[in-house]
Amino acid sequence: MVDRVRIHEVSLRDGLQNEPDVVPTDVKLAHLEHLLASGFRDIEVTSFVRPRWIPQLADAAEVARSLPRVEGARFWALVPNPVGLDRALDAEIGHICTFLSASETHNKKNVNRTVAESMAGLRKVITTARSEGLTVRSYISTVFGCPYEGDIDPQRSLDLALELLELGATEIALGDTVGAAYPTQVRTILELLAAQGVPVEKTAVHFHDTRGTGLLNAWTAWEHGIRTFDGSVGGIGGCPYAPGAAGNVAAEDLVYLFQRSGIPSGIDLDGACAAAQFMEGVLGRRLPGRYLHNWQGQRQRGSRAARSA
Ligand code: ZN
Repeated sequence: MVDRVRIHEVSLRDGLQNEPDVVPTDVKLAHLEHLLASGFRDIEVTSFVRPRWIPQLADAAEVARSLPRVEGARFWALVPNPVGLDRALDAEIGHICTFLSASETHNKKNVNRTVAESMAGLRKVITTARSEGLTVRSYISTVFGCPYEGDIDPQRSLDLALELLELGATEIALGDTVGAAYPTQVRTILELLAAQGVPVEKTAVHFHDTRGTGLLNAWTAWEHGIRTFDGSVGGIGGCPYAPGAAGNVAAEDLVYLFQRSGIPSGIDLDGACAAAQFMEGVLGRRLPGRYLHNWQGQRQRGSRAARSA
């Protein structure tokens, strides 16, 4: 069993697409430098969705073209359809993410297609991407609950995961889009998928902390053999269905959890916190990450002590 974890950092994509502000390209690239300096090597940098849909990520091509060359780093971009894939290929992105929802209603509201229609589109995207030598991570959204349908039959996620792997997806990311997951449910779903042929080493978990269960879910997934965890520094991002709610699980909270448990992630906690603090300045608000505030408090006390010494 692999004794280290991979943190897939999503602040620039999932985080910023759920923030009301549009962050300038050069600020995004400065944030990316912080992430790289703190050791993140899987970074989701943007999305090639139609700029009209998500203006926060309208500079996708510019971001992609400005990516630095860093040994071992994998930069990921979300691709919604064949047009998005063409844009990603033009920008020479090496790693793409696709998405579709386990919930019929969520998929329809999200992309105005049935799940079967989305899967038909993905067939072309994934096979083309693979033939071009790209790595493909396929998100399945609303695996742990849907804002419209509530609980989703895990069999639906299983069937989609198997089909995506068959098409050539290199990784399946199980998305808790609305942050509804809880540990016993995570256990049930992961056990079902692993038993029915979805390898744990190809499975990632994408938790949001909307209801405060993000880290518990991550730990439960670890106990079931998952080694790839999505997070955003500071917990940047919200939930489109719950204004003001917490966003993705904070990446530095994951790093702390695993590091203290003797499980390396390759990420420097101070560096991750500095990246989150930089983004607090950019977004002009306190971010929801927990470890971050403890870190900031200790630093303030440290500098007060230094002044009074
Ligand atoms: Zn998400």
